Amino acid sequence: MRTGVAYFGNRTVRHVAADLEDIAASGFDYVVHCSTESDLIWGKETMREIYRISHELGLEVHADPWGVAGVFGGEAMSKFVTWETDICQVLADGSRIGAACLNQPKLMDWLHTWIDAAVDQGVDVLFFDEPHWYPGDLWYIGRIIGPDSERWSCRCDVCLELFRDRYGHEMPAVLDDEVRAFRQQAVYDVTVDLIGYGHAQGVRNGLCLLPHGMTFDLVGVPDWTPFLQIPGLDFFGTDPYWRAGAEVPLEPYVRPNAAAVREICATFGVPNQFWIQGYNLPNGAEWEAARAIEIAVEEGMTDLAVWAYRGCEAMSALWPGNIDTTWETVVRALQNANDCS
Ligand SMILES: [Zn+2]
Repeated sequence: MRTGVAYFGNRTVRHVAADLEDIAASGFDYVVHCSTESDLIWGKETMREIYRISHELGLEVHADPWGVAGVFGGEAMSKFVTWETDICQVLADGSRIGAACLNQPKLMDWLHTWIDAAVDQGVDVLFFDEPHWYPGDLWYIGRIIGPDSERWSCRCDVCLELFRDRYGHEMPAVLDDEVRAFRQQAVYDVTVDLIGYGHAQGVRNGLCLLPHGMTFDLVGVPDWTPFLQIPGLDFFGTDPYWRAGAEVPLEPYVRPNAAAVREICATFGVPNQFWIQGYNLPNGAEWEAARAIEIAVEEGMTDLAVWAYRGCEAMSALWPGNIDTTWETVVRALQNANDCS
């Protein structure tokens, strides 16, 4: 059993060092550092130092392009989209939003810049988390919401032309199966490029795709199969968080996703990784994280990661009812899973 934890929200190195000591002492094998555009622009040496300290403590270093360009998971803002406004996604209602279009070449240049920095800073693993199109309400809490039928993307000039070339007719005005396939293809193409780029530089590459059965229809990748066959992919997983936004029953959400990861990873001979929700759990519901860990182990997961360190303590919108109890519960359950493996 391998265990990891995501870390974000603090860049004061001496405080980060104290947290990393706690993480190492709690028995984790790796830490997923959420490396934002702010870190890329203003904190290159800060991140190098954070990674160095992580290594010194025996932790493997994974870097996550957190919220970069608005096309990966995470609450971080993108600066890139404020200066490249012409490559942002165009929604079905005609509005342009602050997330780069996955079919725009300039996006890849920016993501390569992020990878170059991460490799130079000494990471072991590039962790590509939840690549997605504009996600509707997910991560856009506070925005005026509307129906998904009017908010899917992307209808920018590049996408409209690509679609026409590929399908021989104009992109429909509704999100039909062809548009879904077109959208999935773009997520796939970006992922292939990034994993190939990272692999060529000698680092390992992990991928997390958003879970199936979500209430956020706009972000899903319907078919995981092609992603498992990407050359250079070192592990694959998903992250069914049952109390993120719209709440769903834990077991019917977590178990099928763990089983799906087990099956598809076995089919293609790719190691698994499975994410456990360790934030946003109300008082008295901390046991749910332990239960999710049990289910994951029962379903054959051998690499468990928790989102995130101390219940996402740096971000009040994600706080659990009790940070200490939640974190202690998660750490104890992971240690139990480790002892039993
Ligand atoms: Zn587009």
